[in-house]
Amino acid sequence: MRQVLALIRKINETITIESKVIIGIVIFTILVISLDRYQLYTNIITEFQKAKKAQHELLINTIAPIISLNISLGLDKSNRDYLDHIAEQNSNVKLLVVTSAQDKIIYSSSSKEMGEHIHYMTNYAKKELFDTVTQERLGQIDIHFDSQEYSKMIRKNIFSTIFMIMLIVTLLSIFIYILKKEFKYLATLSDSVLNYDPSENRLNLAPTTRKDEVGIIHNAILSMSIKIGNYTQLLKEVNISLEEKVKERTQELEEANKKLEHLALNDPLTQLPNRRHLESYTHKSLSFAKRQKSLFSLVMCDIDHFKLVNDNHGHISGDFVLQELAKILKSVVKRDIDFIARYGGEEFVLLFHDTTLEDSVKICKNIQKKLLDYGEFVYEENVIGKITMSFGVTSLVPDSETIEEIIELADIALYKAKEDGRDCIRVNT
Ligand code: GH3
Ligand code: MG
Ligand code: MG
Repeated sequence: MRQVLALIRKINETITIESKVIIGIVIFTILVISLDRYQLYTNIITEFQKAKKAQHELLINTIAPIISLNISLGLDKSNRDYLDHIAEQNSNVKLLVVTSAQDKIIYSSSSKEMGEHIHYMTNYAKKELFDTVTQERLGQIDIHFDSQEYSKMIRKNIFSTIFMIMLIVTLLSIFIYILKKEFKYLATLSDSVLNYDPSENRLNLAPTTRKDEVGIIHNAILSMSIKIGNYTQLLKEVNISLEEKVKERTQELEEANKKLEHLALNDPLTQLPNRRHLESYTHKSLSFAKRQKSLFSLVMCDIDHFKLVNDNHGHISGDFVLQELAKILKSVVKRDIDFIARYGGEEFVLLFHDTTLEDSVKICKNIQKKLLDYGEFVYEENVIGKITMSFGVTSLVPDSETIEEIIELADIALYKAKEDGRDCIRVNT
């Protein structure tokens, strides 16, 4: 049984759905034809039976008057001859028996006694015999016909019908079994597809060796899931590299922003904070000093006769002087809280917190000393000469003053220094 099922399964997996549908239609057609054929046979048998019965009636009705007449006339010999002749002529007459009114057998076509059971046989005909003139009962004629032909026919019909029905029932059972299996397979396949999660890429399907349409669909779904899996993997990798790129770009952008901010707030030549930087810085530091009611000192310093440096030695030499001067300023103003800015051209601003006017002047003097110690400025063997600066200093505990006003105070002092012959320090409080 198991082998048969395995064979059916194998056939099922090899035959295409198209062929299965055709087979189903063929089986169904055979079923309809078989039922029709059975009905036809039944009708033929009924008609056959009727015809036989009529034939028997005809025979018995034909011979009964002659036999009655012979009995009435006492022609026993003629009667026997006649009945022998009838039995001989009608091959389907198996037994012909004539009994007298006293139930005594006066003729039998066979020496064998059939006994009482003869009456219960199917192909049997009987007729009472009467004297045609007196209507006196003379006896009875019984004819038993051969039913072999009939039985054979019925047997053949029953056999072929049973065979047909069994065959069709078997084929239909196989067909329904295959269909059920097929639908179960399709349901499992659909379940796998519905429960498929592309992120996990688990389809719970192994490749099939089926060659039919279902097998093709099965393997197609499988290969599609593999492709989706590959694309998901690719997408993950792309995402990772994209994230890395975004991170890289963000970092680059942050650095670029820092550079930009540096460029925006610092002077590219001297690398000192520029005027804009000074403004944003003082906005905070002045507020701080106002809150703390602490001293806020501002120095405005300017290179003396710097125009001559440019005119006599060139702009590049001028730039060199500015760079060297920035270094000197940085070396003197060391506290983190203090601030140096290139205010513009060859002007610089120094901011000191919690520093007295005297201390601020001291720092300016220190710058002057450094400049003196530096000696002559030489750029690429080109002697520029000594450089001096003029200083304007102011110091106050700020209240309502703005940074512009404080710068103005220092600028006035610087103007005074310039007026007083340069290379000197003037204060304005
Ligand atoms: P004073 O002593 O009165 O300050 O005279 P000065 O010549 O220094 O002042 P003035 O305002 O007449 O000239 C300033 C010069 O500084 C003019 C300008 O060409 C020069 N200068 C301003 N910024 C730069 C710069 O970045 N590089 C160079 N090389 N020169 C600059
Ligand atoms: Mg100057
Ligand atoms: Mg100037």
